[in-house]
Formats: sequence, structure tokens, C-alpha cells
Amino acid sequence: MEIAFSGQRAVVTGAGKGIGRATALALAQGGAEVIAVTRTQADLDSLILECPSIKPVCVDLSDWEATDAALKDVGPVDLLVNNAGFGMLQPFLEVTSDHFDKCFSINVKAALHVAQIVAQGMKARGTGGSIVNVSSQASQRALKDHAVYCASKGALDMLTKVMALELAPYQIRVNSINPTVVMTKMGRMGWSDPVKSKEMISHIPLGKFAEVDDVVNSILFLLSDKSAMTNGVILPVDDAVAMP
Ligand code: NDP
Repeated sequence: MEIAFSGQRAVVTGAGKGIGRATALALAQGGAEVIAVTRTQADLDSLILECPSIKPVCVDLSDWEATDAALKDVGPVDLLVNNAGFGMLQPFLEVTSDHFDKCFSINVKAALHVAQIVAQGMKARGTGGSIVNVSSQASQRALKDHAVYCASKGALDMLTKVMALELAPYQIRVNSINPTVVMTKMGRMGWSDPVKSKEMISHIPLGKFAEVDDVVNSILFLLSDKSAMTNGVILPVDDAVAMP
């Protein structure tokens, strides 16, 4: 199935590394004009070397006002991937206020705010659009030492559903993808321990974690017109049929 994005403008957050970076590159390859948003300038520099058509925006998305300023001239946007995310392992009894605020400010609040900015423009132009929030299997499953991360992704799933409900009258679709472990920088942080990863993989009948491209392909499908009647969906990319 060929998916083309020619003539469309896409914003991808957390585009410096991992899933976000691969999504930005795939969208550019599919003909979209891509705006890559992340907070580390060096990542944007290397991304642009790799794909000179991509437009960089450097901002810490956990800063509400800085996000407004950075995205105020972003222009008409058709597609948004809310991918930037934060994760840190901490046993529930040791969770700190700082950890909680950091995680929710990027995984939930920033996703809400960037979507507000983009959807206001979509609504004003009357052109519709598609938004994909990058959630996680952790939204639906209890993972040890992941209390804050699981809670933040659960919140993101409900945000997706309410956004889908409220934005549908403007022909703006909102869906989420919920991957299992992907061995990016974030994935390695949680799952490099072979004992932990073996246990997790034992619940995945295909016997492996997801690859970055598995996730990117699902994002591209949900962004595209191939999913034109799919709205408010929480799409697992996890082969977790056997997960307890
Ligand atoms: P990476 O750590 O590889 O990349 C995350 C990107 O988000 C980085 O470019 C990072 O920039 C950026 N980012 C983080 N915080 C901010 C911020 N405050 N402002 C701007 N940019 C920010 O992670 P992944 O690619 O693995 O994760 C992408 C998404 O996928 C996340 O939402 C994650 O929760 C989700 N996910 C990941 C899974 C996995 O196993 N990897 C599984 C399920 C879901 P910097 O490096 O400069 O901080």
C-alpha cells in the first residue's frame, strides 16, 4: 500500500531521536513538508544534514509559553505526530514530585498544547487534518517501576478519545498508537537487562520487540487518508494477545 503525503505539512515532536526522527524522515520521503520539533539542537543539525528539506524547531515542549513562541509561525499544518515523551524508572513508593511533573508535562500537557495550537489552525482553515498521539502499551498494562509513565500514557489515551470526539466536527481525526518495547534510547533505558527483556518477550507470541519501522508504519497509516474513517482509536503495536 503506497501512502503519499505530497502537498501536506506535518509537525513531528520529539523528532531528534528514535521513533520521532524516523517518522519525520518517512514523512519527508513521502512528500510531506516536515517541521521537526525537539529540544536538542545537535539532533536537529544532524537530521537536516540527513534530509535538508526538513524544517527544524528547537524548543523544550514542557515549557508552555516557549512552545507558543516556537510554533507561532509554523503555518498551516495538516498532520501532527505528538511523539515527544519522557520515561524514568522509579518504584511507586519512591516517586518524587519532580518526576511526576516532568513526565506529565511532556507526555500529557505538551501533547495537549501542541495539538491545541495545530488544531486551532486546522479549524480556522476548515481543511481538517489528522493527529497521532504516540502512547504506549504502558497505558493499558501495569509495568513494575513504571507507575508515573503508565499513568501518563493512560491519561494520554483518554485525551486522544476526547480530542477525537471534540475535533471530529472539524474533520480532524485523532488516534493513538501504543507500541510495546522498541529498542531506542528510551527502550534501552527500561529493557536492556536481559532478564527483564526475556520476561517481557515471553508474553509476545511473535517472540520479539517492535522495530522502529513497525511503529512508523502504523503512524503513517493513521495520519493518511487510508484510515479516513478511523477516529479515537487506541491502536496496539505490540502482539500482546498473551499478555496477562
Ligand atoms: P527517544 O528517547 O529515543 O526519543 C524521544 C525524543 O523526544 C527525543 O528526541 C527527545 O529529545 C524528545 N523530547 C523528550 N522530551 C522533550 C521535550 N521536553 N521537549 C522536546 N522534545 C523532547 O524515545 P522513543 O523514540 O523511544 O519514544 C518516542 C515515543 O514513543 C515516546 O512518547 C515514548 O513514550 C513512546 N514509546 C516508546 C517505547 C519504547 O520502548 N521506546 C514504547 C512505547 C511508547 P532529547 O533526547 O533531547 O531529550
